[in-house]
Amino acid sequence: MRKHIVAGNWKMNCTFTEADELVEGIMEQLEQKDLDSNTILVVCPPYPYLEMTTDYANDSYFAVGAQNVAAEERGAFTGEVSAEMLESMEIDYCIVGHSERRAYYGETDRVVATKVDRLLAHGLKPIVCVGEVLEEREAGRQLEVVKTQVEQSLFHLSAEQMQEVVIAYEPVWAIGTGKTATPEQAQEIHAHIRSLLAGKYGQAVADEISILYGGSCKPSNAKELFACPDIDGGLIGGASLKADDFIAIALSF
Ligand code: PEP
Repeated sequence: MRKHIVAGNWKMNCTFTEADELVEGIMEQLEQKDLDSNTILVVCPPYPYLEMTTDYANDSYFAVGAQNVAAEERGAFTGEVSAEMLESMEIDYCIVGHSERRAYYGETDRVVATKVDRLLAHGLKPIVCVGEVLEEREAGRQLEVVKTQVEQSLFHLSAEQMQEVVIAYEPVWAIGTGKTATPEQAQEIHAHIRSLLAGKYGQAVADEISILYGGSCKPSNAKELFACPDIDGGLIGGASLKADDFIAIALSF
């Protein structure tokens, strides 16, 4: 059975004190409520809080992820953080190709592919985001857009490498807007992604890969989204900043 994953993307939010309180809140919730043993919870704070979050995670049952990684291996790249650094801090996951990185920092599929390679070489699991913008959906191009993103950012990988990857389908029009894809809209794209994976790597590999939904997912809509056969969890933005909402989402399987 493939893993259910609920990952919280805090983005550029929280002071150190707020971050500390949020992780403590998550720990308290986890002490009170039992997550399904097939569910992995991932907390992705900003870089400066990774160490604090990992210290807490060691006493609890959640994994830690970064929100970005450098495309380069090491050297004179001021302000960047490498996969090697993340590995040395025992970080488990890293988000790549988030639509905000694509839109504001020019992250192309080619850059995403390089970042995926760096992460895999250092033993981290990439959470690779794909998804169409509103104009593309309105033009009925969502399947084609997602196909290109999946192929160009991932299809250079071997089947063995592919099994380390998590994919997040995030329709850009649903991120931070309060508009959620309907379960039917999300399931259609998730099934499409899985069939692309099956075509390239075979059904057995495709069946092992967790595909998360992201875009205004919250406790009130998580259950119906997670009930879809090809939705294996969520990448959660806004709702991951409240410990009880985040855990309520993780309990929605
Ligand atoms: C995200 O940024 O990955 C995201 C899904 O955000 P939100 O849940 O706030 O829409």
